[in-house]
Amino acid sequence: SKRVAILTSGGDAPGMNACIRAAIIACQKAEYTLLGYQHGYNGLLQQEHVSLSLGSTHNLIQQGGTILHSARCKEFKNREGLMKAADNLKQAEIDTLIVIGGDGSFRGASKLSEHWDGQIIGIPGTIDNDIAGTDATIGYFTAIDTAMSSIDKVRDTADAFERIFLVEVMGRNAGFLALNAALSSAADYVVVPEFFESAETEIQKMVTQIKAQRALKGAVSFIIVVAENVWPNGLAGLTEALQQHDISDVRPVTLGHVQRGGSPVAQDRLLATTLGEHAIKLVGSEATNIMVGEVNQHPVTVPLSRTWETSKPLNDARVEAMRTLMNERYSE
Ligand code: ADP
Repeated sequence: SKRVAILTSGGDAPGMNACIRAAIIACQKAEYTLLGYQHGYNGLLQQEHVSLSLGSTHNLIQQGGTILHSARCKEFKNREGLMKAADNLKQAEIDTLIVIGGDGSFRGASKLSEHWDGQIIGIPGTIDNDIAGTDATIGYFTAIDTAMSSIDKVRDTADAFERIFLVEVMGRNAGFLALNAALSSAADYVVVPEFFESAETEIQKMVTQIKAQRALKGAVSFIIVVAENVWPNGLAGLTEALQQHDISDVRPVTLGHVQRGGSPVAQDRLLATTLGEHAIKLVGSEATNIMVGEVNQHPVTVPLSRTWETSKPLNDARVEAMRTLMNERYSE
């Protein structure tokens, strides 16, 4: 019988619990022992673990966050840390380690494999969707929904005052969340890293859109969704740049960590459940140093290194829709 360990690492994401739940039940069925390390790689280094059994699964699928807690861990980035982690895994007689996290967590897992010869399986969990080899990551759908609902609310007050609102959404260095939140909330403009050339060209386009819209409809609200880490000096920088083009009365809103919380939507629960079950199916197989993901709703396995070496493009049709309905809606 196998001994399996699971942990959640890096930025937390809604649906991580649904994935843990699926792993617990699948392990029970296969008669594997399942340990949960707490606080990401820190728990692995401190040997902080709990046994996960069916008693832990009640009402778990709908809970946001992660019952194992997540963390970042500096020590894991150096050789001593990795060797200590490997020792602890040997001592606990773990056959398979499952890491639910983002690309940083996968890099760490991959480094660990240089010191530990057990099986390593990654499961993509991040609201940013910035992991290649899988169509979506656990937490991404809920985050779109949260951002969309927030922008709907911003829209109400923007309409009341006929103002311009800048809304910053998360995504690290990718525009998935920004683009999809903007499209689904009918925002007027979106700034994503994938198409950002320079602040100057972007501001020209933006001002053209604002002026054209005003000429057509009079004073109305205008919502600009901005992916984080794109605009030089963030929303303050963009507010200033707009002011230089005589566009004032601009209100910045940063959505922040609300985007990482909440009960997972159905799509995240389904993805998390499928990937959790599939990962346990691979326990004891040759597959190691791989991530399980989903492509066209079928489970796939890809080498961990591919998940960060390849960059995943935005969906073409969504980009087209963005051009037609938002960024290039009014011609110059
Ligand atoms: P995410 O997994 O969401 O991308 P981070 O980038 O913060 O989050 O990574 C989570 C943790 O993974 C880090 O705190 C660190 O312990 C580990 N990690 C990240 N990059 C490396 C690396 N190159 N080598 C070893 N461990 C790493």
